[in-house]
Amino acid sequence: MECATLFSGSSGNCIYVGTESTKVLVDAGHSGKRIVQALSELHIDIKEIQALLVTHEHIDHIKGLGVLSRRYHIPIYASPKTWTELACIGEVDEQNKREYDYGMEIGDLKLEFFKTCHDAVQPVGIAFFHQDGEIGIATDTGCVTAGMKKVLAGANALIFEANHDEQMLKNGPYPYPLKKRIAGDRGHLSNRTAGEALTELITGDTRQVVLAHLSEVNNTPQIAFNSVAETLRETGILDAVDLTVAPRYAAHPLIKIKRL
Ligand SMILES: [Zn+2]
Ligand SMILES: [Zn+2]
Repeated sequence: MECATLFSGSSGNCIYVGTESTKVLVDAGHSGKRIVQALSELHIDIKEIQALLVTHEHIDHIKGLGVLSRRYHIPIYASPKTWTELACIGEVDEQNKREYDYGMEIGDLKLEFFKTCHDAVQPVGIAFFHQDGEIGIATDTGCVTAGMKKVLAGANALIFEANHDEQMLKNGPYPYPLKKRIAGDRGHLSNRTAGEALTELITGDTRQVVLAHLSEVNNTPQIAFNSVAETLRETGILDAVDLTVAPRYAAHPLIKIKRL
């Protein structure tokens, strides 16, 4: 089982998750062309992708969605209410419009969804289960709920939001209402809240943690890394995991999960 962020941040998001026989993308928030290119850098052909899974309708998650579905005949999956907000992706083949379902499986990947706290109609995070283990993805959330923790705790790989440094956001150039939205319960996770949540999510089974969806204005990869690393060090779990930061415009090296 493997995964990698292809792009990450408010400028666009796309995550690849795959096994030998099943390959999917979570979100498609860049042009179709750039997503195809980023996948090919990981030696994956877009024609191998069996599903486009949408977390929510914000443009940094759906920009290339319609194009990829039309051009390569890939089904799009989204929550029922999210579908009502996807008119902007253009016409999609009726048979490629699919809704998330409880306990659904795609190939040999089993999916579990959880609600995120975000200003979208029905935003979700997704965990993938396979005989090799679990990969959990949670970005675009203003809080970490008990439901999220239940699904994500002990995942072998976590792709987890560390959007902003609280001081940088407070002192930065954004207008006050936007600052309030980002820092709010339906906004984005700060480095501090991400670090605190990760101390509860990381268990002896967790190998890799990728910090994702960093703000370009209110964070830097180094500040996000240092902040979360410090929190994990304090609780004595930093050495147990490989902590990395998802590049904004490039693919993260492929992360391989194998049941030990
Ligand atoms: Zn986003
Ligand atoms: Zn969003």
